[in-house]
Amino acid sequence: MRGVVLHAPGDVRIEDRDDPRIIEPTDAILRLSATCSCGSDLWPYRGVEEVHDAVMGHEYVGIVEEIGAEVSTVQVGDFVVGSFWASDNTCEICRAGYQAYCVHRVLMGTIGTQATKARIPLADGTLVATPGQPDPDLIPSLMAASDVLGTGWFAAVAAEVGPGRTVAVVGDGAVGLLGVLAAKQLGAERIIAFSRHADRQALAREFGATDVVEERGDAGVGKVKELTNGLGAHSVIEAVGTQEAMDQAIRSTRPGGHVGFVGVSHDVSIPGDELFMAGVHLHGGPAPVRRFLPELIRLIWDRTIDPGKVFDLTLPLEQAAEGYRAMDERRATKVLLTL
Ligand SMILES: [Zn+2]
Repeated sequence: MRGVVLHAPGDVRIEDRDDPRIIEPTDAILRLSATCSCGSDLWPYRGVEEVHDAVMGHEYVGIVEEIGAEVSTVQVGDFVVGSFWASDNTCEICRAGYQAYCVHRVLMGTIGTQATKARIPLADGTLVATPGQPDPDLIPSLMAASDVLGTGWFAAVAAEVGPGRTVAVVGDGAVGLLGVLAAKQLGAERIIAFSRHADRQALAREFGATDVVEERGDAGVGKVKELTNGLGAHSVIEAVGTQEAMDQAIRSTRPGGHVGFVGVSHDVSIPGDELFMAGVHLHGGPAPVRRFLPELIRLIWDRTIDPGKVFDLTLPLEQAAEGYRAMDERRATKVLLTL
């Protein structure tokens, strides 16, 4: 099979790798229909995280080619979506809806799904079959469900988004934009998107944003207060992971409100006195995407939502290196890799 290997920072190659095979009786082998690159791939690409001959990719959709002896919920030939954590979906943590913390979890990035095939551990718990073979135009949206849509959705749920609520979204990358989409679907009355980029603002409005705020930091917080009678938003999604974004999220939340944070945290610290006086709920972390997959697949299948619009560059897998360059140079934020 063919797969992406990051040999060293900046050195992405697509090369021949051994075909995956069933190792555990709970495994399945997928022939991928699409894969994609993620903002998190830039950390090793830029050398911020140490890297040496690493397989890449943790998002995937595809067709089941082979199943282990103990796999029963998916069949050969099924089109399936899975999340970036493989999970058994039966342990106590999974049953509570926190599959990203499954006691048997396997991080798919260690398997590397920027490839033509992949072994999926814990296939029964991890994979969700679509109602049939999807039309090709649905594949980008199903791909989005594998991570960025599920993560934006979890952020909205963690922020207790619901009818009558005002929601603010910090971050206009793929996850933030899909947090807007999730907030709309979950019935938010007003959705304030922080964004400075015209194309991202337009997509945010298409996904359901009612207001766009270009200011950041305390000026951005001031705008949210202005739009909410001085109170702040009920629910705030943090989809960046920086100190500035976390501060902005907490300060934009009204007392008693909720922050759902899913931006991968980089050197963020929260002063105890500020947290004490804020009186807000904080919940987040790696999203248990598996919890939401059946519902997300249904909404995509019914064409109620079109989250695939967050991909702003599509390339064949063989040109993955160009996809990494485009993301590194900020010419693209989310790259769909076709097979
Ligand atoms: Zn589990």
